[in-house]
Amino acid sequence: MAYSYDEKNIFAMILRGEIPNKTVIETAHTLAFEDIQPQAPVHMLVIPKGAYVTYDDFAARASDAEILDFTRTLAKICEMTGVSADAGDGCRFISNAGTHGMQEVPHMHVHLLAGRPLGRLLD
Ligand code: IMP
Repeated sequence: MAYSYDEKNIFAMILRGEIPNKTVIETAHTLAFEDIQPQAPVHMLVIPKGAYVTYDDFAARASDAEILDFTRTLAKICEMTGVSADAGDGCRFISNAGTHGMQEVPHMHVHLLAGRPLGRLLD
């Protein structure tokens, strides 16, 4: 796998503090912030701080500490916002990749959507 990371992408700029964001939570390896064009009452983006293009790039190259931090942070946000399927009405994680995945920003991210029925993805 040989992804090429574009340092000029907007999430890299957010991570460098060059443009503002509405941070939800920040940890050693992960940043979560509000999506600028929310598609649901809860719409956050969760990104690793490292330079990874897609989920598979992240899974292949990130350290165990980064991966653990990322997955635990996702779970923590679900708990904080009360949208886990355990305690609340549930949510959806989406990670778009590449052209067919309609990925706009080439820095690995997971969308967390919740707060309304989200419809079926695969009919
Ligand atoms: P993608 O199609 O999965 O790459 O989604 C990129 C997401 O980033 C979209 O939902 C955009 O609304 C969101 N986005 C783009 N620029 C910003 C920003 O500056 N702050 C927060 N979200 C952004």
